[in-house]
Amino acid sequence: MHKPNILLIYTGGTIGMVKDYKSNSLKAFDFDNLRKNIPELNQIACNIKTISFEEPIDSSDMNSLYIAKIATIIETHYESADGFVVLSGSDTMAYTASALSFMFEHLSKAIVFTGSQLPIGDLRTDAKENLITAIQVAASLDKKGNSVVPEVSLYFEYKLYRANRTTKVNAEHFEAFTSPNYPALATSGVHLKFNKSAIQKMPKSKKLIVRKKLVDDVVILKLFPGITPAVVEAMLNIKGLKGVVLETYGAGNAPTSAWFIKALKKALKKGILIVDVTQCIGGSVIMGHYETSLELKKMGIFSGHDITTEAAIAKLKYILTIDAPKSKLKILFEKSLRGELCK
Ligand code: ASP
Repeated sequence: MHKPNILLIYTGGTIGMVKDYKSNSLKAFDFDNLRKNIPELNQIACNIKTISFEEPIDSSDMNSLYIAKIATIIETHYESADGFVVLSGSDTMAYTASALSFMFEHLSKAIVFTGSQLPIGDLRTDAKENLITAIQVAASLDKKGNSVVPEVSLYFEYKLYRANRTTKVNAEHFEAFTSPNYPALATSGVHLKFNKSAIQKMPKSKKLIVRKKLVDDVVILKLFPGITPAVVEAMLNIKGLKGVVLETYGAGNAPTSAWFIKALKKALKKGILIVDVTQCIGGSVIMGHYETSLELKKMGIFSGHDITTEAAIAKLKYILTIDAPKSKLKILFEKSLRGELCK
C-alpha cells in the first residue's frame, strides 16, 4: 500500500501558537518544520503537506467566505491527498465543520478538524496529542486503500466525533466538545479504536460534489421566558431574511400566545423557512407531542429532530441554496443528509 498523503490546513487558533519562553508570549508555530518540531509524527507512515491561511484567524472571525476557502483548498487537493486535517480555533469549530459536511456530497476521504485549548509547547498542552491523532485518523486507510473515516469529523481529547453532531461545551477543559446524540466514531487510548458501525459508509457514487455557496440570511432565535413581541417581530422582520433556527424548549415547545403565533405565521407567509431545534443539549424535538408544539407543526415549521443548533444553521444555509418548493425543502431538512440527525 502506498504511503498516505495528508494535507494539513491551518486556519488559525490556539493550536498554531507556541510559547516563547524567553518573552513569555505566544508566537506562530512553524508548520513548515512540523516533523522537526513534533518528531513523534515520524512514527506515522504518511507524507504531510501543509497549507496555512496567509493571515490566520481567530475562529471568532470565521465566516462563509473563509469556510468556502477551506472547501476550495480541499477540492483542489482532493485527488492528490488521501486525507485532510483542518486546524482551527475551537470556538466556532462545530459550526465550520458542520458547514463543510453539507458542502461535500459523496465524500470518500477523511476531513478531520482539530484544535486545542493550550498552545503547542505549553505545560500540559493538549495540542500535540490532538494534532498527532487527527493526522493518524486522516491517514487511516483500509486494505483497499479507502479511508477508514470517510466523513467530516472532529477530534478532541481522545474522542473522534461526527463533526455535525458536536457542540463546544467547555471553555477550559481539554474535553471541550461533546456529541450528545451520537456515539464517538473512534476513541484513542493505548489503541486507536474505530467504532465501525457508527462511521458513514463509503458513498455509492464516486463523484464528489462541492457546493461552496451558502445563504447567509439566517438567524438563530433563542426563546426565553418573557421574550417580548418587539424582539421577536424585529428579528422576523429583518430585511432579506430567509431562514430561522427557532431554539425552542424541551421537545420543541414554544409559547402559545396569540402574538407569537401570529408573528411566526407572518414570517412563513413571506416564504421564510423556520426550523424547530431544541435548546436542550441532548434529546430530540417531537413536534405535536405537547400542545405547545402542535401549532408550530400545523403552520409548517420544519422539525430539527435531534440536530444541534450548529448543524441546523449550517444545513439551513445549505438547503436555502436549493431551488425547490418548500415541500421538497421540508423533506430534505427533516431527513439525514450527512448523518446529522437520527431519522
Ligand atoms: N479563540 C480561539 C479560537 O477559537 C480559541 C481556540 O483556538 O480554541 O480561535
